[in-house]
Amino acid sequence: MSTDKKSFSRRDFVKSLSIFGVAGLGATSVLSACGGGDNGAAADPCGDLSGLTDQEKQTRDLFQYVAETPIPEQRCDNCEFWVDDAFDAPCGGCTLFKGPVAPAGWCNSWVAES
Ligand code: SF4
Repeated sequence: MSTDKKSFSRRDFVKSLSIFGVAGLGATSVLSACGGGDNGAAADPCGDLSGLTDQEKQTRDLFQYVAETPIPEQRCDNCEFWVDDAFDAPCGGCTLFKGPVAPAGWCNSWVAES
């Protein structure tokens, strides 16, 4: 009787490993589809940060830079700090941090161009 119980427990354990394994693969797929598994370079033509140091990437994060502005009237390409020809089109740069910036991007330091 106790052998059956032990055998049943092992089967349940193996079954649970399979279920969690499949769930883990599913979660990984969802993250990849959302761009959460990398730096989003595939979806954002200005998202290649491979030339930046970790500290330079952290600086971008501190400014809460995003490639798609949440405020339509505030975009990188109408910001005082936008550098039009810093990278190949359509990307530009920003005088506040390193790396390419999307024209439709935004960060928490946006200032209307004068
Ligand atoms: S300061 Fe912010 S909004 Fe302005 S160009 Fe730089 S990243 Fe874009």
